[in-house]
Amino acid sequence: MNEKMFGEKKHLYYTNGRLFINNVLGCASNCSYCYLDEIGLAKGKILKEINANDIIFMLEENSESLWYPISTIVSFGCYSDPWAKLSRKNTIDIIKYLDENNYKITLSTKQYINTSDLNELIEIKNKNNLVFLISMPITTDILSHEKGTSSLRLRIKSIENLVTAGFKSAIYVKPFIPGVTIQGLPIIKNIMIDYDVPVVLGKLFTTNGTGELAVVSESIKFYENECAEYLIMKESLREVGSVYEHSYEVFSVN
Ligand code: SF4
Repeated sequence: MNEKMFGEKKHLYYTNGRLFINNVLGCASNCSYCYLDEIGLAKGKILKEINANDIIFMLEENSESLWYPISTIVSFGCYSDPWAKLSRKNTIDIIKYLDENNYKITLSTKQYINTSDLNELIEIKNKNNLVFLISMPITTDILSHEKGTSSLRLRIKSIENLVTAGFKSAIYVKPFIPGVTIQGLPIIKNIMIDYDVPVVLGKLFTTNGTGELAVVSESIKFYENECAEYLIMKESLREVGSVYEHSYEVFSVN
């Protein structure tokens, strides 16, 4: 095993049936609430990048010794944005490999997913095993809170492109930001209705030592907690569609 590539805050991180892949570490975008700086990675810049072949080599070396493809959910987008310009081509190549080997895959992004990039994946054999999570923890004043990301209009267009091309997608609201996230409630409800997509409504990230441990970093612990606004939003979203707390739950939908 290549220790430089494997482990928390590295290109591959495996824990409890979840495998996180980041072909770059760090993110060129700069979201005000992002935890990358706190865990020793970086927002606003890329620290390291690696190509798809190196990731695939590591996957082949460790599948069936550390994990089994059939029982592992792979997530792109924990220490980077996998659909950013620098990552996208490698991400697509890795997805093709994972699809061949029957992994379940989620990919979360704040970048625009256009039709020509999607065409690269149109031939994959297990479309139901791939879910695109279109990130929307903030829907107002995106330019100042999420520098370097795509507009809300383009994120909604991404969902439209995905649905039209027969890919599964979900609205990804994580982390929950008190006083801010709930402002997007009417917009998110409309998207759920217009495109018939579920929502993943993540909780608040805190460091107060209570709540469920977030799968981000073992050295610096983040906990997931509810608040009154969170519960109000969850209840309201349930009126129009499926609401999950965790991204892996999207595979309960067929
Ligand atoms: S896009 Fe994601 S990884 Fe990049 S800065 Fe924003 S929250 Fe962090």
